[in-house]
Amino acid sequence: MPVGTTSSRRIPMKNIVIEMPTVASCLATECAYNVNEDCHARAITVGNSLHAGCDTFFSGSEHTRAVQRTAGVGACKSKECEFNQDLECMADSITVAPHGKAVDCMTYAPR
Ligand code: SF4
Ligand code: SF4
Repeated sequence: MPVGTTSSRRIPMKNIVIEMPTVASCLATECAYNVNEDCHARAITVGNSLHAGCDTFFSGSEHTRAVQRTAGVGACKSKECEFNQDLECMADSITVAPHGKAVDCMTYAPR
């Protein structure tokens, strides 16, 4: 292909099979990934330096159409939670809900 041109061919996505905790429910219904109090992102990231918030939260009027998909916890930065091992969540599942002005992991438990 000549330099400077692009191919319109779509490169297939790689399939990755990985065990993750599931997001059992989320009450942040204004989030674009939320349909009927369930999260349908592929995976969420939890935690920042201040609290175990859902970093994937995205407020939007349009909601995902991927309602068959159940979200997993892809990563968690809340090292002070007892379920956190090596920056990953080891709980079976988590729940998420609005908490003040934030949207937090309600499964968080301090060590
Ligand atoms: S868990 Fe996070 S990304 Fe998923 S619906 Fe709730 S706030 Fe949105
Ligand atoms: S339970 Fe703990 S380790 Fe798991 S996502 Fe929530 S804050 Fe992170």
